[in-house]
Amino acid sequence: MITIIKSISRNLTNTTFSVANRVCYHQGLANFHSGTAFRCEATQISPEELKKQKNDRTKIIPVETSMRYLQSSAYKETYGDHLVWEQYRRNHKGSIPPRKTRKTCIRKGVISTGNPCPICRDEYLVLDHRNVALLRQFISPHTGEILSYSKTGLCQKKHFDLKVAILRAWDFGLITFDVPFREFDLEEYYGKVDNK
Ligand SMILES: [Zn+2]
Repeated sequence: MITIIKSISRNLTNTTFSVANRVCYHQGLANFHSGTAFRCEATQISPEELKKQKNDRTKIIPVETSMRYLQSSAYKETYGDHLVWEQYRRNHKGSIPPRKTRKTCIRKGVISTGNPCPICRDEYLVLDHRNVALLRQFISPHTGEILSYSKTGLCQKKHFDLKVAILRAWDFGLITFDVPFREFDLEEYYGKVDNK
């Protein structure tokens, strides 16, 4: 008898739960259709929470996503026809900037400065040898050399990562580069040559 009662009570609790779930589900749907769900979500996030989410850099973004981002309309809207670093301006005390840029912008997975460098500020810019469209922006079109951090404003850590990525891209043949021209003195090899 007791077991029967127990089973009934269990069934009852189960049904009540399922009914409750269904009610929630329908409410959710109603919210979804009326658009209140979105409004509720928007009001729930406080400005501090939003800032925390913005400065969080613990999420690893794959290179493929970054490559697609560079071709997207969102990227175009953000940077227009400018290069990624072109409109960035360093913040420093006094009129003369320190010779080196800061060591890093990200500490313990969080942006630790108010003016992060062009690569650190946009989490979808991933430095990798496959991300050629991004790397090309940091190579001088006149000399073919890697641009200095004093020009681009990259932090020391990202500048190092950039150098590694570009050297890898050169090795893989994804970016071509000119070998510096060198004039050899062939007399050392052939001896005196008579051009008469
Ligand atoms: Zn940085």
